[in-house]
Amino acid sequence: MNYPSRISDNHLAIFLFHGVTLSVDCAVRNYTRKHIERDYFVTVLRRLKQVGTPVSMNDILTHRELGIPLPPRPFAVTFDDGFRNNLSVAAPVLVDEHVPATFYISTDFVERNRMSWIDRIEFAVEQCVCAELQLPWGQRQFRGDEERRVFLNEIRQIVKNDLMIDGEQLATDIQAQLGVAITYSSSHPLDQKLDWSEVRTLAAEPLFTVGGHGHSHVILDSLGTQDLEYEIETGMRLLKEKAAVHGPHYSYPEGMPNCYSARVIEALKRRGVRCCPSAVDGVNDSTADLFHLKRVMVV
Ligand SMILES: [Zn+2]
Repeated sequence: MNYPSRISDNHLAIFLFHGVTLSVDCAVRNYTRKHIERDYFVTVLRRLKQVGTPVSMNDILTHRELGIPLPPRPFAVTFDDGFRNNLSVAAPVLVDEHVPATFYISTDFVERNRMSWIDRIEFAVEQCVCAELQLPWGQRQFRGDEERRVFLNEIRQIVKNDLMIDGEQLATDIQAQLGVAITYSSSHPLDQKLDWSEVRTLAAEPLFTVGGHGHSHVILDSLGTQDLEYEIETGMRLLKEKAAVHGPHYSYPEGMPNCYSARVIEALKRRGVRCCPSAVDGVNDSTADLFHLKRVMVV
């Protein structure tokens, strides 16, 4: 993938990462390359630096709010979800390469080392080579690695497009039907999230910024008013209490266009959020709104 080509004079490119890992030995886990290898991460960063100038999300905020100019061909590096390997693997590379980064953290993942609903499903499917399941949209079966990936792709697509389907409940149903343990966390390296002392370590590094990414990672626009307030307030309160993060930075969980709305943006602004990129693919021109910034996912 030609990521440097997304950097240009008249646009701001914001790259979205999730995890950076040393080695992964799984049949289907991480088939989407949510976690990329350390060496590949180094290569991508160096190639981006050859054509662009790294900036922080704070630089972008002060540029838009105060008119402080950005360097030519700016790009920013961001991470969603708060995987432990952000600190153990990615952070030393970022420091060596002098690249600022913003880490958007889902606080319940930190509190309980929790997996997302799709990681819970992937973890269960990894343990079963073949199965037949009854899903809300019909009967499905898989046998072997390729069919397991097709099965997981279909689940991703359907659940992300239908806010009425509860991903956590679906994960529990699938775990039960596959006869594996009903679990919300695992000891697998890909499932380790930052703990609070690690969030504080990241926040203390001058190159880095920590922001919010929901509390439970639920899609914000799927929530009623009260639950929406709880989700945003809880996440921001925990970041403040446990890691002294008071910042104005946030990213929408899932981040697709159907995951946020004017109502969600207003609720975030009331809590002091001033910059919130989505996960919609694209780069941003000089008029882009700070609550509709697009990102380029690196896989
Ligand atoms: Zn996320």
